[in-house]
Amino acid sequence: MPRRRSAVKPSRQLTKHIETMANYFQDVIPELDVHQARMLASNLVIDPPEDVILALRSMIWLQRPRKVLRDDDERHGTTHAYTNFGCRCEPCKEANSKASTKRRLTRVEHGLPEDDDRHGTYNAYTNYGCRCQACKLAARDRYVGDPRDVRSV
Ligand SMILES: [Zn+2]
Ligand SMILES: [Zn+2]
Repeated sequence: MPRRRSAVKPSRQLTKHIETMANYFQDVIPELDVHQARMLASNLVIDPPEDVILALRSMIWLQRPRKVLRDDDERHGTTHAYTNFGCRCEPCKEANSKASTKRRLTRVEHGLPEDDDRHGTYNAYTNYGCRCQACKLAARDRYVGDPRDVRSV
């Protein structure tokens, strides 16, 4: 773990981070003016609380540049393109949804072993198709606002 910097003058890389974050803050909080956004960003970048660091890391990770598949790449229409290249063209989306349906069906087919500790969760009810008493209850709790959604329970 790199130690917390107390330097008053941020390095060039830090300045860049601050700039990026300031822009981001202005995007999500339009009320901020440039100065406020920059203050907020530099406080957070130079002396951030632990959970903020985590949030930022995942934000940066999500915004990482992705490799892009060219239009004529023959890998379109595969889950590989969908997952590893983040391609969201129709054939890739279709490949992914087919694969996830298939994964779901396989799971439902095999069900959950009796001693699995996921019984009694909404996950077990939907993704594993378990209809034991505990799972049915979990599903019903989930829809307490609209019981029509679990007509079959
Ligand atoms: Zn594609
Ligand atoms: Zn169950």
